[in-house]
Amino acid sequence: MTDTPSYGFDTLQIHAGARPDPATGARNTPIYQTTAYVFRDADHAAALFNLQEVGYIYSRLTNPTVAVLQERIATLEGGAGAVCCSSGHAAQIMALFPIMQPGMNVVVSSRLYGGTITQFSQTIKRFGWEAKFVDMDDTAAVKAAIDDNTRAIFGEAIANPGGYIMDVRAIADIADAAGVPLIIDNTTATPYLCRPIEHGATLVVHSTTKYLTGNGSVTGGCVVDSGKFDWAASDKFPSLSQPEPAYHGMKFAETFGPLAYTFHGIAIGLRDLGMTMNPQAAHYTLMGIETLSLRMDRHVENATKLANWLEGDDRVDYVTYAGLESSPYFDRVKTVCPRGASALFTFAVKGGYDACIKLVDSLEIFSHVANLGDTRSLIIHSASTTHRQLTAEQQEAAGAGPGVVRVSIGLEDADDLIADLDQALAKATA
Ligand SMILES: *Cc1c(COP(=O)(O)O)cnc(C)c1O
Repeated sequence: MTDTPSYGFDTLQIHAGARPDPATGARNTPIYQTTAYVFRDADHAAALFNLQEVGYIYSRLTNPTVAVLQERIATLEGGAGAVCCSSGHAAQIMALFPIMQPGMNVVVSSRLYGGTITQFSQTIKRFGWEAKFVDMDDTAAVKAAIDDNTRAIFGEAIANPGGYIMDVRAIADIADAAGVPLIIDNTTATPYLCRPIEHGATLVVHSTTKYLTGNGSVTGGCVVDSGKFDWAASDKFPSLSQPEPAYHGMKFAETFGPLAYTFHGIAIGLRDLGMTMNPQAAHYTLMGIETLSLRMDRHVENATKLANWLEGDDRVDYVTYAGLESSPYFDRVKTVCPRGASALFTFAVKGGYDACIKLVDSLEIFSHVANLGDTRSLIIHSASTTHRQLTAEQQEAAGAGPGVVRVSIGLEDADDLIADLDQALAKATA
């Protein structure tokens, strides 16, 4: 199915990468619950280990169920290949791993998921990597942050928690001029709402935990490569352009062309970092993806209704949803994610921190959880949870100040969600 990119999104979200099981005819993709695969003979084993033949060796590297999901997501994003891994955070490390080295840096948006801000500002330092945080709306600041040691630019197409929209094309042009890849976290948008590769991104990462699975059942991540970046054009990416000692001096860029980064992700990344997605998780995510477009349309419809209602309510100071006409990002939605601005946004409650806490505790349909992209409507007070490890300055920059709550609008009846917010706001601001 992947040789047929002319199919529409709804067809591809169901069929891309999958075919009836050759052994049994099973129509749904089986869960290949196996660790290892029998080699035909010793020559076959040697060819697989030398990367001369593509096939299954061991499920830390590849698994047929996971492979279907990889092909599915790569197709929906318009990429050349994809590698699934155990979580969104694993995907971010896996995305940076082939292109970073000690002493190198990545220029990243100051508006990111709180966990990513912590991962980038703290944990990656232990690898000798550095993240430079900038406001991606300030293109001069992005350019100024790039230096000789910069190896990538990273941002979220629709930023968690505020739902702000990134001008992906403008940042991609800066990345191109600097000769480095642009990595877009497309978790909040999904490929149904935004296809970053069409806007010039090189790599796309996902937390498949969120909308791609869609029902809050499994964690997972994915790195998609556009296949368009020339890793050998400079000496900046030796892992991809220079001889790899672990594979007899083979050069990934030369040997695998547009699939170099994807093969590196499996043959080096998964092999040695081991952040593998398991076949059960791939199965749940495959089931979720089949209805992605239907769910996203409804998420957007509900979020638009709720954001408009909240904006018109006296007990609310402001609403950040980019789908609102009052949003400074409203025009950008039309070019970056024309089918809608997803269903994640924040709003400020009159009464600040205390009112936010009371609101969260008073809701009945909304669940107070640290997640998004569920069928269920979710709410969280970011400043005291997901963005708790950050400084007050970082919280404000990320759009997660103490006086706002973040909502992920689900698929329930919009009127019921409005009634729930109405009663809880009454209690919160009494
Ligand atoms: C949740 C999330 C992540 C991290 O994904 P996990 O699957 O929780 O590891 C990264 N980016 C964004 C935008 C997220 O919402």
